[in-house]
Amino acid sequence: MTISNAVTISVGDELLAGETLDTHGRTISTALAARGCRVLQHRVLGDDVADIAAAIVAVTAFADLVVITGGLGPTLDDVSRESLAKAMNEPLVLDVAAEAHLATWYAGRGRVMPAGNIRQAMRPESATCLENPHGTAPGLQARIGRALVVILPGPPSEMRPMLEGVLEVELPDAPRPAIVIRAFGIGESDAAERIESLMRRDVSFPVSTTVSQSLLSARLRGNGPDDRDSIELLAAQVEQAWHPFVFGRDEDTLASVLGGELAKCGRTLATAESCTGGMVGAMLTEVPGSSQWYPGGWVTYENNRKIEDLGVGAKLIELDGAVSESVVAAMANGARHRAGADYGVAISGVAGPGGGSVDKPVGTVWVAVADDAGIDARCFRFSGGRSVVRDRAAKTALQLTRLRLRGDESDLLWQRDARS
Ligand code: AMP
Ligand code: MG
Repeated sequence: MTISNAVTISVGDELLAGETLDTHGRTISTALAARGCRVLQHRVLGDDVADIAAAIVAVTAFADLVVITGGLGPTLDDVSRESLAKAMNEPLVLDVAAEAHLATWYAGRGRVMPAGNIRQAMRPESATCLENPHGTAPGLQARIGRALVVILPGPPSEMRPMLEGVLEVELPDAPRPAIVIRAFGIGESDAAERIESLMRRDVSFPVSTTVSQSLLSARLRGNGPDDRDSIELLAAQVEQAWHPFVFGRDEDTLASVLGGELAKCGRTLATAESCTGGMVGAMLTEVPGSSQWYPGGWVTYENNRKIEDLGVGAKLIELDGAVSESVVAAMANGARHRAGADYGVAISGVAGPGGGSVDKPVGTVWVAVADDAGIDARCFRFSGGRSVVRDRAAKTALQLTRLRLRGDESDLLWQRDARS
């Protein structure tokens, strides 16, 4: 039976309480849309057997596919398994293979399985278990009338691969080609103007743009597998129009792309951060294998740390202030030399809400990149509150370093002064 529409049900008291954001709804909708399946509803429910069972009965009356996430944990507050059994009017039985998986999981970690965890190997009689290589809870799959119902574990790292596994089997063909182009350092209006003709609604594949967390994205989507070449061609056009601000596609991050480029040329990068307090280091070390190109860095928040840890001249700070071209340049150079790295990147700014002056209002941030050819220090004026200023500063440092690596000298959004 073909699956053309779906309903998602995210389960968890923490979602209703607002403690955890329901990101699964988005993840699942995106994955389904890529395979041409329309999502009709997102539901969010608490951990309540009667509520979940009633919802399952209701949505299986009209949906081809029902994707439920969460509530498969070993504790008594996780009741999605019981709810499915109730909706199916079937008893829970022990699944032998799932029980073996649990035993192996705990034995492999040298731990004794808590007695209550055997619940995770139970399934409604006619349901099947979905293997979970990344955790203890198997997923569940069942038919109710003409609808296919799956329950996936709540943790995103377990949910995503299991979802992909199910979709590969149930919606194997006709994936709609989709590309997201990622850029940073160009304004949305400027970017839109550069691709105006591609954004018109009357073309075959209109491009749409969004900005989230200061990252600009262009979304391109075809209707079927035959559109793959057209979408690829369109992507190349957007990439050219937004050059050199485009840093990657789809799941790429500024850090992962910069890391990839450093690895490719066998170079290393050290960091010196003041107002971002290690955010650049955190972004870089989020990339697996980053030790290959990121030896480390310094968080030099207070002046003495800049002087003692990075060798910034006390006189420079006295004369120019900590948020200045000369100090940020000395920080970048100090980090580069002291870490023995090829590149050094430094940030020093006024993140606010206090600390601003007429000369250096809140949002003024100096960013510098040093290498053996010299130092590129630039002044930025970021708008937004403290966290936005810090985030933009960290991303700007990564983009500036990436451009330096590539020998590209473009000015970036929010840049104030001419380059030194
Ligand atoms: P559970 O299997 O329901 O106990 O979920 C385990 C953990 O997965 C929760 O504590 C959340 O951190 C995460 N999680 C569950 N459902 C969602 C969701 N809809 N969106 C984002 N995270 C979720
Ligand atoms: Mg839960």
